[in-house]
Parts: sequence; C-alpha cells; structure tokens
Amino acid sequence: MNDGSRSSSPCAIDRARQMHRALLVLAATLTLSASRAATTHAAPSAHAPAAATLTPDKALEQLEAGNKRFVSGAPTHPNQNAARRAEEAKGQHPYAVVIGCSDSRVAPEIVFDAGLGDLFVIRTAGNRLDDLVLASAEYSVEHLGSPLIVVLGHERCGAVTAAVDAAAHPAPPGNPAETGSHVPILVRTISDAVTATASMPGDKVENALLENVRIVVRGISSESPYLAARIRAGAVKVVGARYDLDTGNVTLVDSATPTHAAK
Ligand SMILES: [Zn+2]
Repeated sequence: MNDGSRSSSPCAIDRARQMHRALLVLAATLTLSASRAATTHAAPSAHAPAAATLTPDKALEQLEAGNKRFVSGAPTHPNQNAARRAEEAKGQHPYAVVIGCSDSRVAPEIVFDAGLGDLFVIRTAGNRLDDLVLASAEYSVEHLGSPLIVVLGHERCGAVTAAVDAAAHPAPPGNPAETGSHVPILVRTISDAVTATASMPGDKVENALLENVRIVVRGISSESPYLAARIRAGAVKVVGARYDLDTGNVTLVDSATPTHAAK
C-alpha cells in the first residue's frame, strides 16, 4: 500500500528537483547559522537524545511516554528552560514530525509533554496533505534528521464534522456559502474520508476522522517519492494516531480501513 510507486510526470520531477534545491539552500543556511552560533555558546548540555541518534521506534516510545505523563496529570515539561533555549538556538534536531489539526485543544508539544526543539509540527484544520505540508515534512526528515512522522487526528474534529455534515446536506450549486471562503475547499478535501466510511456502522464523524488519518498516512508515501524511499529503507516510520479530547490519550490508528480489510 505504501510503496510510493506512483509514476512522476516530467513536470513533477522538475518540481521535485526545484524543491530539493530549495531544501539544500535552507540546510546550508541552517548549517552556517549553527556554526556561527557554536563559536559564541558553551558546549551542549545533556538532554533528550538528538533526533539523529534515535530509531523510529525509540522516537515513538519517547512520544508515548510523554503522552502518558500528560494523561496522568504529571507532565515534566522537559526542554523548556533557558539552557535548552540557548542550545536549540544553535540548531534543531526534532525527533518527530507531527502532522496535526490546528484545533486549539490538540497542541502536540503539550499532549506529548515535549519542549523546544523536540517536535517539528505542521498543523492545518483537518490535518490533510498538500505540497507545503509535504515539503515541510521532507525538510524535517532530510535536513533535521527526524526519524518519525505522526499523523495526529482527534476526537470530534470540527473539520471532519463539517465534511460529514456537507455529505448529509449538500449545498446547491452557487450557494452563497461557496463564495468568498476557502472552507468549502477544506470540506471537499476531507469528503473522501466521509465517502470511504459512509457504509460503516457507528459514529460517522469518528469513522471519518480515523479514515482521514489513514488517507494522510498513505498519502505521505504515495505523494512523496523522497519520504517513500526513506520509509522503505527503515530510516523513517509513519504512524497514524487519534487524540481523545476527553482523556488526553493518544492511540495509534491501524493503517487499513476496517471495511476494506474485511473484504
Ligand atoms: Zn480538528
């Protein structure tokens, strides 16, 4: 499923090369800034391991441990002091990329009890992919060494709820709600998750938000040849996850749609 075998058009290849060159420029700038900063700061202090030293599974363990602390009401708020700030000013090595929803109740640094430089967070309402989201994830993996990508959906997601409502009560063409706003684009984007789960029993929003996560997990490989190659090599892992608004618990989401898996 995540074989990244989608053929690339010449246009897509050109675009990928341009993006790669842009990332190299960004990396060179970062390296230069880091080397300059290193001449004016003290030696690094001991803290959580840099991303490059973590395996994908160890990075996931670190995230899960942080979520357990958050859920239990005993967060330690790691890596949030002045020493960490000074150290991270020299260069960042986030151990995980989080592609999450913009919902104000689902801040990854809080729900995973993380700190400065720990997570490379990309948030949009409904946590879907586009070129900018993929480029951001690629940058963190390629140039910052992040070994893990987490796609984080959440309970009662408003964006998914809007897509479920739109499927149940489609607006007529030319409806004023379709003009002057980008929200309908977001709703249409998520409609594939609603369609895929339309015949499933249970809560429609819950079913769709889980499928929405699965679609993004699959899309990371199918839309990014670079990330697909890193995943095949075992250097990077992609997992889907669901955040429970009530308990604060983050649970992993199986990659196969239950209705599809049953066929
Ligand atoms: Zn949401």
